[in-house]
Amino acid sequence: MTTMKPTERIFRLVSSFRSKQLLVIMLACCIVLVTTTACFLGFSYLSFNHESRVRMEALGDIIGADISAALAFGDYPAITTSLEVLRADPSVKQLFILNEHDQISASYHQKLEVVPDNVQLRLSTLRSEVRKPYIFDVSPGIEKAISRDGNRLGSILIEQDERVIIKQLAVTTVISAVILLFALGLSYVLANRFQRVITDPLTAMAATMQEVSATKDYSQRVSSCDTDEMNLLAERFNEMLTEIEQRDEELLARQDQLYHMANYDALTGLPNRALYNDRLEQALLLAARTGEGLAVLFIDLDNFKVINDTHGHRIGDLLLLESAARLESGTRVSDTVARLGGDEFTVFLRGTRTPEIAVQVARKYIENLYLPYEIENNRLYVSASIGIALFPEHGVTPETLIKNADAAMYQAKEKGKNSVELFSQSLHAKFSEQLGLSNDLHRALEQGEFELYYQPRINLLRNSWSSVEALIRWNHPEIGLVPPDKFITLAEQNGLILPIGEWVLREACRQLRQWHCQGFYLPRVSVNISPLQLQRQDLFAIVKDALVSNHLCTKSLELEIVESALVDNVGHSISILKKLQDIGVIISIDDFGTGYSSLSYLRTLPVDILKIDRSFMLHAHESVEDNRMLASIISMSHSLGLEVVTEGVELAEQELVLKNHHCQEAQGYYYSRPLPATKLLQCFFNSPMTLEDMHVHTVGHTQDTCCMLADGPAKPCGNVIGSIEPYDH
Ligand code: C2E
Ligand code: MG
Ligand code: MG
Repeated sequence: MTTMKPTERIFRLVSSFRSKQLLVIMLACCIVLVTTTACFLGFSYLSFNHESRVRMEALGDIIGADISAALAFGDYPAITTSLEVLRADPSVKQLFILNEHDQISASYHQKLEVVPDNVQLRLSTLRSEVRKPYIFDVSPGIEKAISRDGNRLGSILIEQDERVIIKQLAVTTVISAVILLFALGLSYVLANRFQRVITDPLTAMAATMQEVSATKDYSQRVSSCDTDEMNLLAERFNEMLTEIEQRDEELLARQDQLYHMANYDALTGLPNRALYNDRLEQALLLAARTGEGLAVLFIDLDNFKVINDTHGHRIGDLLLLESAARLESGTRVSDTVARLGGDEFTVFLRGTRTPEIAVQVARKYIENLYLPYEIENNRLYVSASIGIALFPEHGVTPETLIKNADAAMYQAKEKGKNSVELFSQSLHAKFSEQLGLSNDLHRALEQGEFELYYQPRINLLRNSWSSVEALIRWNHPEIGLVPPDKFITLAEQNGLILPIGEWVLREACRQLRQWHCQGFYLPRVSVNISPLQLQRQDLFAIVKDALVSNHLCTKSLELEIVESALVDNVGHSISILKKLQDIGVIISIDDFGTGYSSLSYLRTLPVDILKIDRSFMLHAHESVEDNRMLASIISMSHSLGLEVVTEGVELAEQELVLKNHHCQEAQGYYYSRPLPATKLLQCFFNSPMTLEDMHVHTVGHTQDTCCMLADGPAKPCGNVIGSIEPYDH
C-alpha cells in the first residue's frame, strides 16, 4: 500500500472539496430555478385561463349586444352572418345563440364540417361543462344572457378552443426552459468563479505546505485572506509554521551545541582530542601524498598544579585560557592547536621538513608562554615543556605521533622543564623498557619480588645510629635488582604505589619489631611516603595498624614526605600529617631544597625533621659558596626549631663540614650503603658506633619517651633471634 504525503492528502482534499462545493452550489441553483420556473408556468397557466375567460365574457357581451336586435326580430340569417366575423378568432371553438326558449337560433363552428344532428348533443355537453365549477382545468367556455331593454331575449354559449391556451403555455414553457438552462449555465460559471474566494486560500496553503515539505524552508508564510474564517485558518497555519521554524532553529542550535561539545574543549574553546585526531589524520594523508613533513608538538605547562593549588581553580582556569590564546595566536590557521585536558596541549605543524624548524617553533611557544600573566592582580609565570615527534620518522598515525611527542615531553620534563625535546629511538627504547617494567610491576607484589634495604642515619653528636631509612628494591626475575628510581614513578603513574607503599610500611615496622626481638634496639625506622599515598590512601589507619600489630611505639616510625606532596592537595595532606604527628609519628621533609617551598612556609606545617638533599652536600667541602649555602640552611632550620639531617655524605671531609655547622644527623655511603636487613645488623656490630638509646631520643614535639597506641601484654618475640655474623664494610 502506498502511503500518501500529508501535503498530497491536503491537495486532494482541497480539490475534492472544490468539486463538492461546486456540486452543492449547482444543486441549490437547480432546485431554486426549477421551482421558480414551475411556479411561473403554473401561474402563467392560471393567468392564461383567466384571461381567456375574461375575453370570452367580453366577446359574449359584444356579440350579445350586436345580435340582440336581430334576435328580437328573429332574423337568424343576419345573426349567422354577423357570427362569421369570429373566424378571425381562433380561440372560439363554437358558439351557440339560444332564444328565450333555449332553442338554437344560430351557431358558429370553427370547423365547418360539423354535422347538424350533433349540434343539440354538443350544446347540452357544453352547457353541463360550462356550468361545472373549475379551478385548475382549462375553462371550457361561458354562457351569457342576451337582453334588450331589460327583457331576456335568449342566451349565448361560447366554447373556447383550449389548444390556444395549451399552445401559449407550451411557448411559455419552452422560453422558461431556455431561460432556466441559461440561468443554470450562468450559475455554474459564477459559482465556479466565486468559489475560488474560498478554495484559492486553501490551495495556496496546500501549495505552501508542499513547498515547505520539499524545501524544508519554514520561513515561508501564507498571505492573509478576506474572509474571517479563512484569515483565521491562515493565521493558525502561519503560527504552526512559526512554531516549526522555531523548533527547527532550536534543533539546529542544539545540534550545533552538541557538535561543539563533542569536538571542542569547554574551557578554552580549542579543538579537543577527537577533533584534533580527525584533523591530524587528514593532514597526515595529505602529507603522505605530497611528501611534505609534519611535526606534532606535545606541550605541558610546568608546575601548573602549584598555581592551581595555591591560587585556586579560578585563577588556574584563567591562566589556561590565556595560555590557549597565546598558543593559538602563534599558530598558522592551517595548523591546529588542541587541548587534551588539564594543562596538556598539542599542535601539529604542516610542512615541517626538518627537526630544526619544529624545535624553533617550539621555542617560540615556550618564550610566548613564559611572558608574565596578569590575572586578577596576580603576576604569574609559567614555563612549558615540549616534546616533538616528526612524520614520518617518528610515526605515521596520529596515535603514534602523539604518544611519541608525549614521551619526548616527559624527557624534557626530566631534563629540568622549560625545554624542548625531540623524540628519538633511544627514547623509544627507554619508554618500551618502562612499559615492560610497568606491566611486570603488577605481579611483583604478589610474587614477593620486593625487598627492603636499610641505610643507617648517624647522630653526629653522639656518634651513634639513630635510625635507618627503609629503601625498596625490586628483585626482577629476569633483569635482576631494579633500583626505586626506575619503578617508583611508574608505580605512581599506574597507582600501584598504593599497595606497594602499604607493604613497605608494614614490612619496615615488622623488621624493626624483629630487630627489637633480636635484641637490636634500633630507635626508629623511616619510610618514604609517595604523595599519592597521602592523597588517596587512609594513611592514618594503615600507619596505626602497622604500629599496633607490631607493638611499636609511635616514635619509632618516621615518614619521609617530599616537598611537592605538601604543595599538591595541601589541605587534605596536612590534616593527615597533623593527625599522625599528634599520635607521635615523626614527619620529615625529604630532599629538601629541590622543591619550591620556603623554610618559613614549612614551619607552618606538621614537620619535625628536614632532610637536606644530597646535592647541597656534594661540593660543600670544596666550594665556599656551597659550604655557606649549607650552613645557612642548617642554621635557619635550627632557628625554626627543626632538626636537620643531611643526605649523601660520602667523605670524611663532608662529615667534618657538617660537624662544624652543628648538623645533628647525617646519612650516606660514608657510613653505609643501603643493605638488606641481616647485613645491616652485621654492619652495625662491625662498626665502632653505638646504638642510640631509644629512651633518650628526643626528636618530636612530645616529651614522652615512647608512645604506645595499644595497651596489653607485650607481644612475645618468639624464636626470631638469629646469629649475628660479622660484615665487611
Ligand atoms: P631518598 O628517599 O632520598 O633516598 C636516598 C637515596 O639516596 C637512596 O637511593 C640512597 O641509596 C641514596 N644515597 C644514600 N646515601 C648516598 C650517598 O652518599 N651518595 C649517593 N650518591 N646516594 C646516596 P635509592 O635507594 O636508590 O632511592 C632513591 C629514591 O627512591 C629515594 O630517595 C626515595 O625517594 C625513593 N624510594 C626508595 N624507596 C621508596 C619507598 O619505599 N617508597 C617510596 N615512595 N619511595 C621510595
Ligand atoms: Mg627518603
Ligand atoms: Mg632523600
